[in-house]
Amino acid sequence: MKTDVFANRHIGITENDLPKMLERIGVKTLDELIDKTIPEKIRLKAQLNLPPAMTERKFAEHIGKLASMNKIYKSYIGTGWYDSITPAVIQRNVFENPVWYTSYTPYQTEISQGRLEALLNFQTVVSDLTAMPLANCSLLDEATAAAEAATMMLALRSRAQQKAGANTLFVDREIFPQNLAVIRTRAIPQGIEVKVGDYKELEFTPDVFGCIVQYPNNSGNIEDYREFTERAHAAGCKVAVDADIMSLALLVPPGEWGADIVFGGTQRLGIPMFYGGPSAAYFATRDEYKRNIPGRIIGLSKDKYGKICYRMALQTREQHIKREKATSNICTAQALLATMAGFYAVYHGAEGIKDIAKRIHSIANWLNKQLLRLGYIERNSLFFDTLRLGLPDHVSAQKLRTIALSKEVNLRYFENGDVGFSIDEATTVADANLLLMIFGIAAEEPVHEIDDIPESSSLNRELRRRSSYLTHEVFNRYHTETEMMRYIKRLERKDISLAHSMISLGSCTMKLNAASEMLPLSNASWMNMHPLVPEDQAQGYRTLIENLSQQLMTITGFEGITLQPNSGAAGEYTGLRIIRSYLESIGQGHRNLILIPASAHGTNPASAVQAGYETLTCACDERGNVDVEDLRQKAEEHKDQLAALMITYPSTHGIFESDIAEICKIIHRCGAQVYMDGANMNAQVGLTNPGTIGADVCHLNLHKTFASPHGGGGPGVGPVCVAKHLIPFLPGHNLFGNEQNEVSAAPYGSAGILPITYAYICMMGAEGLERSTKTAILNANYLAVSLNDTYGTVYRGTNGFVGHEMILECRKIHEESGITENDIAKRLMDYGYHAPTLSFPVHGTLMIEPTESESLYELDNFIDTMLSIWHEIEEVKDGKASKEDNVLINAPHPEYEAVSDNWQHTYSREKAVYPMESVRENKFWINVARVDNTLGDRKLLPTRYGSFD
Ligand SMILES: *Cc1c(COP(=O)(O)O)cnc(C)c1O
Repeated sequence: MKTDVFANRHIGITENDLPKMLERIGVKTLDELIDKTIPEKIRLKAQLNLPPAMTERKFAEHIGKLASMNKIYKSYIGTGWYDSITPAVIQRNVFENPVWYTSYTPYQTEISQGRLEALLNFQTVVSDLTAMPLANCSLLDEATAAAEAATMMLALRSRAQQKAGANTLFVDREIFPQNLAVIRTRAIPQGIEVKVGDYKELEFTPDVFGCIVQYPNNSGNIEDYREFTERAHAAGCKVAVDADIMSLALLVPPGEWGADIVFGGTQRLGIPMFYGGPSAAYFATRDEYKRNIPGRIIGLSKDKYGKICYRMALQTREQHIKREKATSNICTAQALLATMAGFYAVYHGAEGIKDIAKRIHSIANWLNKQLLRLGYIERNSLFFDTLRLGLPDHVSAQKLRTIALSKEVNLRYFENGDVGFSIDEATTVADANLLLMIFGIAAEEPVHEIDDIPESSSLNRELRRRSSYLTHEVFNRYHTETEMMRYIKRLERKDISLAHSMISLGSCTMKLNAASEMLPLSNASWMNMHPLVPEDQAQGYRTLIENLSQQLMTITGFEGITLQPNSGAAGEYTGLRIIRSYLESIGQGHRNLILIPASAHGTNPASAVQAGYETLTCACDERGNVDVEDLRQKAEEHKDQLAALMITYPSTHGIFESDIAEICKIIHRCGAQVYMDGANMNAQVGLTNPGTIGADVCHLNLHKTFASPHGGGGPGVGPVCVAKHLIPFLPGHNLFGNEQNEVSAAPYGSAGILPITYAYICMMGAEGLERSTKTAILNANYLAVSLNDTYGTVYRGTNGFVGHEMILECRKIHEESGITENDIAKRLMDYGYHAPTLSFPVHGTLMIEPTESESLYELDNFIDTMLSIWHEIEEVKDGKASKEDNVLINAPHPEYEAVSDNWQHTYSREKAVYPMESVRENKFWINVARVDNTLGDRKLLPTRYGSFD
């Protein structure tokens, strides 16, 4: 083996493994398998045109060079991004730790207790600081959180308001521009009229259903919204507040003056700026709106023996269940960043956070006094961290800018000529002296440096927070590094991640997230860059973005791309908005219908509705393929209304439908567009692509196909690639003076994690990527044949092969033995495995996607495990094991049960926890028994303070 070829490290299967695998599958060569799996018509004729693969060392040098092209100045631009200090103990033990970053969204509760606790900490922080009883465990960014607030308030309209068609959303003009832009993008298709103005002058006419204000506002001023909120409520109007989370350590929180929704960013809780993202947005509301709140909520529950544990609550309101009736399309959010922000609060505690907030405020207060003395004009007298200043006559913004840049400092320059800055956690006394000096030089006035900035406050009694926060023990115990490290480790040990075993989640593509891809993220030149810096400071980022964009367009066969969306579902939404703009441009704006196959992922219909469309479901045939006749008939019947088809390819059933090209033609003939959900791109890369197939738009999930880690439920990146005719409608950004279809706060979304995918593509090269896809298909077929005589697979392609994933039949088992697919999922935990995808896209089944990264050893071990479980099911079926007391329905068996003196089962402890020899070598000890799914919903306890007593 060539040791320096990265693809040989990424791909789990070697040349030597092939003969055994191919023989079992029943083909002579890998190419034969591929030829028989992917329809000839849509195959690429040539290898992808990508630069030669780099070795890991070469890439390290290359990315190092790009990083050095970023000039890291001190940025006081604020506007939603602030320099922040990531505690090293969190950077090293969470951010750089594969157990935290490679884990999956915590659907499998019993092996996710660590990250569930971490996320509940996050919710508790948000709840405490905002003084709202209910918070979710993150949204994509502050701007989309603003849009979600708008949508939620629309849904919460009273019957009378709905009847009267109240559709005006008032947004105070002093809100960050990117938040307003994204609200606009998202509001338009919902039929919401966005009215922007001064909140003090708002007349509450009956058409206004909700208001959004910012605290402190865009100019840094802290407005007192108490009276405004009362007036709004009297008019039956909801109030959502975009609040700076750090400021709430000192200010009266919106929950104490009547806000209905409070949202914002948590980047300044120890998350790097990353040129815009990722970081976690927060969203909090009243308890009575728990069924309307977007995103996931963690709550307390009990396991079957009564032990308190954590779980994701209220899943029934999510898109995968409610589809077009869902409250939002949020699937992947920002779990890893929320986890880190939660740990930041754990590490600092109430005192620490208050201290940081006071330091920030004291520096701002000191500078304010000095600058007014120099002749600068006060624009915001009530501030937390941000000053906006008018300039004296003899000072121009240009002069200030030149001086600031010469000192490697970025200030904020307002359109009207005002200049401002936001102080942050990282601002030192020396930095404050330098800031003062810059303004002094510009004003041609002498300034005096000081050695220390004493604590001071300009906040009046009405604004000052009196209530306590972060009083739970978890925020008071781990303030030393030793304790913090152990706390993180303690939680980490409760979770299964890729560091433990294969996570074969169909559709989610949990492949290797290589260390060499992750390493660059810890470089300060990628971490500490504000997204609104002048372009010449961000040349490293810009080059990387340009290169990666080219690569992804080559791979998808498209000519345009945006990297702005922060998740797959956000990509879907963006793609549909692009289609809408295009249709409007050709006078077809009336088309309002999206055709979606029954097998589609729940985010498809949810995104379509968010984008203002109606959905129409078309059927699948008995092979799992789209029923082409049904599709043709529905498309033609609604010919004049049809905007697009949303289709996943290969299908969610893992099958390469041979009719796909024909399907695209049918849709195009109706004057509609083809949207391809690229979640299954792992089966296409290098072999076929959406451009060749004939689609118009497709989103990618960098956190699936392109090696970016799942993070326990985010961060994600959902780039959208488009054909030529759609390029003019790609998202712009207010920073570039074009707000069209702006969908994220930052111009390039989560730019900070783009180096991962860039590394993956650079190091794999065209050959590696193609081999990757082939191996993914090989591995899935190997599993499919190996389990064919027992479970059997649900769908196969024309020649009897599956694609990169396969659906395991479990419905017969249920009929014959009473054992469900859920029991199998739980029993897998006793063997040290995370369950495959449960009951999607077919109820009563498990969908397995091994990916190319798994070795033959791991595949065989998984097969042995599944066969061993099959044997256990047979025992139940044959009556050798009790129907009421067997290893399956009692699974998982937690450690505390296994060691208990009070073992009650009809089978041995050894059978329960060491069911197979190999388990002894790699035992994953489970912390809780099967979790009660309904208890935590009947009584929702979304913070650490909750109790069932
Ligand atoms: C994962 C997935 C999505 C949603 O992606 P997110 O990043 O979680 O929003 C959409 N469609 C399919 C088929 C998927 O597998």
